[in-house]
Amino acid sequence: MNSRYDLIVVGAGMLGLAHAYHAAKRGLSVLVVEGGNRACGASVQNFGMLAKIAQAPGTGLDRAVRTEECWHDLAAEAGIELNSCGCLFVATADEEMDVLRAFMETETALNQDLRLLDPGGLMACAPAVHTDTLIGGLWSPAAVKVDQRSAMEKLAAWLSRQHRIAFLFSTRVQAIDAPNVETARGGFHADRIVVCAGDDFETLFPEAFANSGVRRCHLRMLRTVPQPQDWHLGPFVLGGLSMARYHSFQQCAGIDELKQYLADRYPACLEHGIHVIACQEIDGSVTIGDSHHHGEPVSSEQSDTVDQLILDYLAERLTLADARIAERWTGHYASLADTDCLILEPQAGVRLVTMTNGQGMTHGFAVAEETIELLL
Ligand SMILES: Cc1cc2nc3c(=O)[nH]c(=O)nc-3n(C[C@H](O)[C@H](O)[C@H](O)COP(=O)(O)OP(=O)(O)OC[C@H]3O[C@@H](n4cnc5c(N)ncnc54)[C@H](O)[C@@H]3O)c2cc1C
Repeated sequence: MNSRYDLIVVGAGMLGLAHAYHAAKRGLSVLVVEGGNRACGASVQNFGMLAKIAQAPGTGLDRAVRTEECWHDLAAEAGIELNSCGCLFVATADEEMDVLRAFMETETALNQDLRLLDPGGLMACAPAVHTDTLIGGLWSPAAVKVDQRSAMEKLAAWLSRQHRIAFLFSTRVQAIDAPNVETARGGFHADRIVVCAGDDFETLFPEAFANSGVRRCHLRMLRTVPQPQDWHLGPFVLGGLSMARYHSFQQCAGIDELKQYLADRYPACLEHGIHVIACQEIDGSVTIGDSHHHGEPVSSEQSDTVDQLILDYLAERLTLADARIAERWTGHYASLADTDCLILEPQAGVRLVTMTNGQGMTHGFAVAEETIELLL
């Protein structure tokens, strides 16, 4: 292994690998140093949702479109599963349906193939949803799910094979004094260093972290046992809590009425920052989440309450064939209000790149492309 590279990337999560990809495409020699024996942060804890539908027009939507393009460019070669399963927002109340109707007129919607559905249409998209209590929904047939559980490992293997990117796993970066990068396996050198350590950049640059205002956001997640083979969820399924949360819905007529309705109907969900997404994995299990607690994670006594709120909300909208929960975890990412992405330069030649909007799978390739462009 060489000790000198054009670029050293710290972290082999979505952001680290995306930087390595764009740098290698521009002909740079790249070393990626990862503390775990594989990516072990938010990039393997998420839903794998490429959430184009959640983006407000402008930078957010542009980055989502570009990132999805990159996923499509490399997925087949890298052996990564991209499932165009679609995304379904379901409505139980008039306030939700009003916002969905208004959403159809927004720029985000006009740039995508979206359809309003009646209960019969819902049934055709996702047979498990409750067509007796749901009054309609919004269907995005092209929405894509990445197989988040295997994507990072496959992407790293492909980058190593195809782009000759060097990887050092199970090796934490201990200190950076550009151009030197200190690890337990010795020192490495690069004129450009990109730190994509997720929410862990305070270890390397405590001062930059302290001054940034970034806080850790903790998210409760659950996964069922694999469902029977003849049961298919189909798309991502979301409800009104997600409409109230996503940027793309914020300008819709009726959004304030929807927020008031949710405050009256689901106060405990709002208290825990819950908005519910369900999606089915390749092995048939269903991933369900999530809540948002900033700063400290929810206490172990309270986590059962939060999990139950998430499950109850979902159960009002669809019935799982087998509701047994096989896995529970608390995911985490860096968060900073009203900021999609934080890019700091703590030393000349060093960039700290951290997604702060919880949408790195959706924005990551585009953000990395922009950073590499700037570094060059
Ligand atoms: C529960 C949950 C659900 C989410 N759902 C979605 C979704 O559906 N769609 C979406 O777009 N986004 C989603 N996100 C957000 C998305 O997962 C993150 O924005 C993205 O994964 C961040 O990637 P990253 O590479 O910056 O960080 P991470 O994935 O956290 O990777 C950081 C890596 O750096 C390594 N590292 C840290 N410090 C060092 C060091 N000193 N030396 C060496 N290695 C180090 C860590 O081991 C880790 O592997 C979700 C996040 C969570 C937590």
